[in-house]
Amino acid sequence: MRFNPKADISRGRVGDAGRGGGGGGGGGGGMRIPLPGGTRAGGGIGGVIIIILFIVLQQCAGGGTGGGTSTGVDPQAQGSPQGLDEDSDRYANCKTGADANDDVDCARKAVAFSLQKFWSTTLPEQGNTEFAPSQIITFSGAVQTGCGQASSQVGPFYCPADQKIFLDTTFFDDVLEGQLGGQGGDFVEPYVLAHEYGHHIQNLLGTMGQVRTQQGPNSDAVRLELQADCYAGMWTRHAYDSELITLDQADIDEAVDSAKTVGDDRIQQKSGQGVDPEGWTHGSSEQRRAWFMTGYEQGTLEACDTFSASQL
Ligand SMILES: [Zn+2]
Repeated sequence: MRFNPKADISRGRVGDAGRGGGGGGGGGGGMRIPLPGGTRAGGGIGGVIIIILFIVLQQCAGGGTGGGTSTGVDPQAQGSPQGLDEDSDRYANCKTGADANDDVDCARKAVAFSLQKFWSTTLPEQGNTEFAPSQIITFSGAVQTGCGQASSQVGPFYCPADQKIFLDTTFFDDVLEGQLGGQGGDFVEPYVLAHEYGHHIQNLLGTMGQVRTQQGPNSDAVRLELQADCYAGMWTRHAYDSELITLDQADIDEAVDSAKTVGDDRIQQKSGQGVDPEGWTHGSSEQRRAWFMTGYEQGTLEACDTFSASQL
């Protein structure tokens, strides 16, 4: 992956929340999210990855059932999570594609810019929906969000309440490659960011409200996740053809490998459990690969309609 050195990436929406947690959190501000798996036997690998999107699902489920979830969100937390410095030094010097070629933080800003550019035209055209950009927030340890306080343990996630993507970048080395044995590479993070941005698009489209069943091979949760992979494929196709980014086949292979790495069957195997589709929340490795490629090859929201697919 290379960026056009002359490209202006200064409008990429990224921010850094710094180092959080350790000292007992946000002082009773935000909602605490019960993390399934995180409490299980020291939160093994399954505990870490399976809940990547759990926060999203919690939000949706809460909205429909009138439970404590939606009302539990601190209104103040929906604006600007405490400690967040959107113009932090971390990204202040990332201005051009040349910067992105030299620095992984600047590369993140360039990817953010490419994602918002792509969806700002694609969503109105294909989805007949007004676009509003998400923002990628990096943090270390723990972070206060519109969805409550979260730790690195949950992995990258999208919070619909503040429409932001939260990411502790140690996830890639420690979990994706370390624990789950992904092959790594510089296009792993862009795939994950594109997947999370896919959840933002689902939020804007109202698709999240369709999620009723949370677990199992044909559940709405799995359909939502596979659709986010499909949307990631759509963006990757755009990036492949764009003037901002130069990709080659190795990058596509890295995205596919990453999609397979976070398949539920693979995670279950790696964490020493037997493979049990009834526990799936994101879909199998093969399904994640296939839906990413559907988005990549067909490039339309319509092709990514996992909710109407009879066969996932
Ligand atoms: Zn997801």
